[in-house]
Amino acid sequence: KGPDPDLVQIAERMQTVKHKILVLSGKGGVGKSTFASQLSFALAGKDKQVGLLDIDICGPSIPKMLGLEGQEIHQSNLGWSPVYVEDNLGVMSIGFMLPDPDEAVIWRGPRKNGLIKQFLKDVYWGDLDYLIVDAPPGTSDEHISIAQYLKATNVDGAIVVTTPQDVAIIDVRKEINFCKKVGIPVLGVVENMSGLLQPLSSLTFKKIKDDGEEEDVTEAVLRELLQSSQESIYAYSEVFYALGGGAEKMAKDMKVPFLGRVPLDPQLSRAAEEGRSCFTDASCRSSAPFLNKIIEKI
Ligand code: ADP
Repeated sequence: KGPDPDLVQIAERMQTVKHKILVLSGKGGVGKSTFASQLSFALAGKDKQVGLLDIDICGPSIPKMLGLEGQEIHQSNLGWSPVYVEDNLGVMSIGFMLPDPDEAVIWRGPRKNGLIKQFLKDVYWGDLDYLIVDAPPGTSDEHISIAQYLKATNVDGAIVVTTPQDVAIIDVRKEINFCKKVGIPVLGVVENMSGLLQPLSSLTFKKIKDDGEEEDVTEAVLRELLQSSQESIYAYSEVFYALGGGAEKMAKDMKVPFLGRVPLDPQLSRAAEEGRSCFTDASCRSSAPFLNKIIEKI
């Protein structure tokens, strides 16, 4: 029996793509697509030629996160053409093929696999420095065939996104073991929603007086007090949150690189909702330094 013709075609199509990076997660909702889209913006901002391929077929959120809702894919004689955000950032997602974004995609394994295969075979990307692949969460059967297709493309490896909580980290361990089993290198782990990033102006500060009474402190007064640092100031937050660190320990334990943390950041969430880049848009730039540190390691 000769080589699988699909795998041969996928490998041929990917010959013009230098680096292929898979973005994975053990669970949904941990920020995998947010990370994949901001990573693509970041690389495009460094004048790289970038493609973002969304094969998270059950919940395609990439068109929205790239500001491309309502766009359609076109066919040319070279294949399916991606939708372009900029000249050097092209996007392909099943989201572009659904008439109604509210419609659930209830497809069984073989049909999903067929489409994923077609995406890898038939999209005409041209020359790319990076292809970022936003994969479905988990380690189901269909992941094994996805892994096979991607291995045929000579994939660089996978970045695994998690949140700090134990329930997410258990699934990430499974995901890392899955990568090891199918022979996809793990480029590293990202801990998302790690700690809370808030502008000072949104927090309430209180000064506790000698008689135990509390007094609200404005941001301006707070800055003065911090200069003199003679008084005890407390920032009071009603958010009780796991501050993070779990993923770093887990990565060390499993002998895979830890790439860094991205805080829980309302500005980043807004960037994702509005399809903006947190690297160029001043209104949502607060998480860019965290992401930059991670991207430098990739
Ligand atoms: P996944 O792809 O893992 O299912 P998404 O990227 O769709 O997850 O993110 C789920 C939700 O969490 C989105 O509404 C997104 O805006 C939000 N989100 C992701 N990362 C962060 C973060 N670091 N801070 C705040 N909100 C975030």
